[in-house]
Amino acid sequence: MTEQLPPTTTPDVPGTALAEDEAVRLTSELIRIDTTNTGDPDTLVGERAAAEFVAAQLAEVGYETTYVESGAPGRGNVVARLAGSDPSRGALLVHGHLDVVPADASEWSVHPFSGAVQDGYVWGRGAVDMKDMVAMSLALARRLKRDGIQPKRDIIFAFLADEEAGGHFGAQWLVENRPELFEGATEAISEVGGFSITVKDGVRAYLIETAEKGIAWMTLRARGRAGHGSMIHDDNAVTKLTQAVSRLGTHRFPIVLTDSVREFLQGISDITGLAFDEDDLEGSVAKLGNIARMIGATLRDTANPTMLKAGYKSNVIPSIAEATVDCRILPGRQVAFERELDEILGPDIEREWVGLPPLETTFDGALVDHMTASILAEDPGAKALPYMLSGGTDAKSFAQLGIRCFGYAPLRLPADLDFSALFHGVDERVPVDALKFGTRVLDRFLRNC
Ligand SMILES: [Zn+2]
Repeated sequence: MTEQLPPTTTPDVPGTALAEDEAVRLTSELIRIDTTNTGDPDTLVGERAAAEFVAAQLAEVGYETTYVESGAPGRGNVVARLAGSDPSRGALLVHGHLDVVPADASEWSVHPFSGAVQDGYVWGRGAVDMKDMVAMSLALARRLKRDGIQPKRDIIFAFLADEEAGGHFGAQWLVENRPELFEGATEAISEVGGFSITVKDGVRAYLIETAEKGIAWMTLRARGRAGHGSMIHDDNAVTKLTQAVSRLGTHRFPIVLTDSVREFLQGISDITGLAFDEDDLEGSVAKLGNIARMIGATLRDTANPTMLKAGYKSNVIPSIAEATVDCRILPGRQVAFERELDEILGPDIEREWVGLPPLETTFDGALVDHMTASILAEDPGAKALPYMLSGGTDAKSFAQLGIRCFGYAPLRLPADLDFSALFHGVDERVPVDALKFGTRVLDRFLRNC
C-alpha cells in the first residue's frame, strides 16, 4: 500500500501552479532526450540536444543564455543569470547535470527514455538523477522571469554535461576554464538532498546534503621479473599485486563520526527516541530501513577493488600487474587514510590516483534557515537534518571556487519508496506529487533566499 500523502496545498503566489505543471512536463521531456554518458565519448548521444532544449526554454521567456561546449564537441552546458535586487549579496548557484547513466530497456517495465507519466509517477532514466531537479530549476527560472519577480540575490542557473563520468567535460572543465560564469557565487544548491524519509508515524525528515565523501580512483601497480610460466619464479607481479589487493579489500577502516553524521543521528534520535549506541554504530544504523546502506557508508572510509589487469598469455609471467580500487574518504581523513594505506599495501606496491577531495560545510546560517523554512512551510511538522553523501557530485568542482555547496532538491516522498535504490536503478521514477511539492518549496526558497 502506498501511503496517502497530504493533499497538494494551494500555492500562495500566482504563477507557482503553472511552474508545478511545467516541472512535470519538463521532467518528462528531458527524459525523452537520451543523454546516456558511459564515459566513452564515442557513445555520447544527446547532451547537446538537451542543452539546446534547456537554452530554448530559457530564451523563450527572455533569458540571455551562454552555451558552452566544454572541451569536446557535443558536451553542451548552459548558463544563465537572473539579477537580484541586492548586488552586495553573493550569488546563488543552482546547478544540475543533463547526462544520465545507461539503462537497459529489457530490464524495465516502461521504456527508460519514454518519460511516461503514469500511476502518479514520471518514469525513466534520470527521473531522480537528476532531470527532476533540472526540470524544477528550469520551470522556476522561467516562472521568475515570466512573472517579473526579482530575487534578492543573483541566481545563476547552470545546466551541465558529464557529471556521471566525473565532470571533466562539464562542471570541472567550466571551473577551470570559464570561472567568470560563476563570478560572485558564494553558495550553491543541487542534487542528492532535500528528499524526505519517513522516520516515525508519518513524521518526515528532509535530508539536506552538507557533506560528501572524497573520491579517489586508485591504480595499484606491482612489478616483478618477467619469465616462463613453467619455471620456479619468486618475483611474480601478479602474486604480489593480488596479495595487496586482498589485504586492502578485506580491511575495515575505523569508524569516524564527522559533524554531519553526528548531527544527522542526533536529529533522528530526537524524533524517534532511538539511541545510537556508540559501541555498535553500524548495528544501530542498520535499523534505519531503506537509508541504512546510504548512511552506513558515511561512517568510515572504504576501498573497494573494482578492476584487475595483468598478463597476455597463460605461460608468460608478466612484469607488471595493475588493479583499480574505488576509495571513498571521509572529510578530515585524507592524511590518516593514506597512512593506513601505506601500512596495508607495503613498500612494493606503487599507487597513483585521480579524484576529488571530500567536502563538509556546517548546517547553519541564513541559507540553511531559508532551506529549512521553505520545506516546513509546505510540510509543517517535518524536520530538516544535515547528512553526508557517500558518493560525489559536481559540488566537488564548484567547491574549488570557494562556493559553499548543498544538496537541496526537495521531494516529499511516500514512506514506502526505496528512494536511494532508484539512483542508477531499474524503473527509476519520481512521484508527480513530489515534483509539484519540490517546485513549491524551491519557488519559496528562490524568491526569499
Ligand atoms: Zn546525479
